[in-house]
Amino acid sequence: MAEAAIDTPALLLDLNAFERNLVTMAQFADRAGVQLRPHAKTHKCAAIAEIQIEHGAVGVCVQKTEEACALAAAGIDDIFVSNQIVGAAKCKRLAELAKRVRRLAVAVDDLRGIDDLGAAVQAADSRLDVFVEIDVGQHRCGVAPGRVAVELAQAIGARPGLRFAGLQAYQGSAQHIRDPRERAGAIGAAIDLVHLTREALRDAGLPCPRVTGAGTGSFVFEAASGTFDELQVGSYVFMDADYSRNGNLPNALQFEQSLFVLTTVISRAEAHVVVDAGLKAHSTDSGLPLVVASGWRYAQASDEHGKLLADAALGAPVSLDRGAQIRLIPGHCDPTVNLHDWIVGVRNDVVESVWPIDARGALG
Ligand SMILES: *Cc1c(COP(=O)(O)O)cnc(C)c1O
Repeated sequence: MAEAAIDTPALLLDLNAFERNLVTMAQFADRAGVQLRPHAKTHKCAAIAEIQIEHGAVGVCVQKTEEACALAAAGIDDIFVSNQIVGAAKCKRLAELAKRVRRLAVAVDDLRGIDDLGAAVQAADSRLDVFVEIDVGQHRCGVAPGRVAVELAQAIGARPGLRFAGLQAYQGSAQHIRDPRERAGAIGAAIDLVHLTREALRDAGLPCPRVTGAGTGSFVFEAASGTFDELQVGSYVFMDADYSRNGNLPNALQFEQSLFVLTTVISRAEAHVVVDAGLKAHSTDSGLPLVVASGWRYAQASDEHGKLLADAALGAPVSLDRGAQIRLIPGHCDPTVNLHDWIVGVRNDVVESVWPIDARGALG
């Protein structure tokens, strides 16, 4: 089937670009001597997780208990929930899931979290790897680096069924700092906080098996630090309009846009056209999508409509008649994927694969 025959709006994956992104990241990690555990919150798709593992990833990260369950049900067997899991029901699900996969890990930033997970694994007669999440500058989840993190690590070690697996240290707010030197500075500060925590663990006589973190905007810096063992990059497989606005150092690795929303022109007026991909087909939290058609700007989104204006700054506008199909580059890849049931893989304008977004809507 030709790309032109796909019913729209549809989530499209350019397989050539996607595969080049996978190879670029795998070769980078190999040369840098760090492991890859890509973040599956980006794609929520077991088929893509499997391909990442075929390309050398040691497993995947997820953000939610239900994401872990959905990917495990589809055969992914090494999963790290890189987030805080709160509540007896979720702890029970995780503790039970731990018996069905080769390896399951989770992050904590509170002694009560360790108690809850400890009780759940005891009841389920299972085991969990637990990372202490430290706040390295994002000021989202995470305990203070240093002494408090050591106390949590000791508490994990004291609980039957829990193993202290290392440090979770993700600096999310640095990923989209546009200036690469400024971004490097923010990650440098994060790396210092990891160092300090590793030293505090060592002084307390506790080995730190692994430090994990990094995103698509910053992984080069974490990888060069000598302190991070594992990169949890997510967006690099797809990229998006927000990441396209990041500045890069000379000779930086390039990742290609592989994710698109395919849309159809449903109406045409004197000065604008309307497409069938609005807020329910792509996410606008990080800005409006870019249009892959010369001379057009996506100007306004409503539920099921997108209004495109001709914009001379973007070149001479190509003619877009009713029925024309065009590709959009989503503002933010992760929440866009979560709006779709399927991702349609195309190569040279021909459909090659249709993969379910297994963990779509897995919020719990
Ligand atoms: C989103 C996220 C990532 C991946 O970030 P990208 O910018 O998509 O590469 C990694 N780790 C955690 C904890 C995240 O929340």
